[in-house]
Amino acid sequence: MGCLLGHKWNGCKCEKCGKIRDEQHMWKGCECSLCGKVRDEQHIWGRRNDYTNNCKCTRCGKSITRQDINKITDQPILGIIAEFADANSSNVCYDALEKLTDQKILADLAIKGSTYMLRMSAAEKLSNQILAQEVFVDVVKNCDAMGLVYNAIKKLTDSSIIADIEKNGKYNSMREWAHDRLLDLKGQQELYAIIKNSKDNDLREKAIMRLTDQNILFEIASSNDSEKYRYEEEVPGWTGRGDDAYIYGWKKLTYDIRDTARERLAELKNK
Ligand SMILES: [Zn+2]
Ligand SMILES: [Zn+2]
Ligand SMILES: [Zn+2]
Repeated sequence: MGCLLGHKWNGCKCEKCGKIRDEQHMWKGCECSLCGKVRDEQHIWGRRNDYTNNCKCTRCGKSITRQDINKITDQPILGIIAEFADANSSNVCYDALEKLTDQKILADLAIKGSTYMLRMSAAEKLSNQILAQEVFVDVVKNCDAMGLVYNAIKKLTDSSIIADIEKNGKYNSMREWAHDRLLDLKGQQELYAIIKNSKDNDLREKAIMRLTDQNILFEIASSNDSEKYRYEEEVPGWTGRGDDAYIYGWKKLTYDIRDTARERLAELKNK
């Protein structure tokens, strides 16, 4: 049946013959409820099915892009995007997190987020430091991704918790990171005491790299006490030439903590 005398338009659709015109659509979000045409506006972000951890429009199926996020300011929607976008492989999740400031939503993500990556990132934006620290401890104890564990240890502030990881951490690297973190938290005078008194030269070098007090650094740099600040260490390397090959072995090198102090001073002055 044609509409020879003219169509009877209801929005974009003729009520008599079903013809569609590209105007006066009946938009419901991103989709026209009459003809099904999709526009790139007003998507409803969420999870389309349970199989993919990917944030899509629940109506038209579009995968969210960074451009889409630029347009969104609504905090609950940003929360949904951060939750459903794959935190391990997409920038989208972080773009959404970056725009999130709502502490209630961030706390939810930090506690119940689907991946440790997401939980960590949300926790880093929390003003509630007690909750944030709980998440970091959880990551250290239960997460298998060592990069995240490293970041979490770097964020810990409770010395007794860190000391426990230094002692009982699952892996050697974890114990070492905790050891370094404890140094991060030491005061300048404590670091100075380590540099003056410790027999562990590695530890002394680490301590000096954490000094920011220029008076202490200057005191070390200008000291005449070679006994205290010079030390020898055996390192593996090429030690000489044999008949037909270089010889590999241990060689002694001399180090001086005062040199490190001078470098550190120069570095601080350049900042
Ligand atoms: Zn018609
Ligand atoms: Zn339409
Ligand atoms: Zn859509």
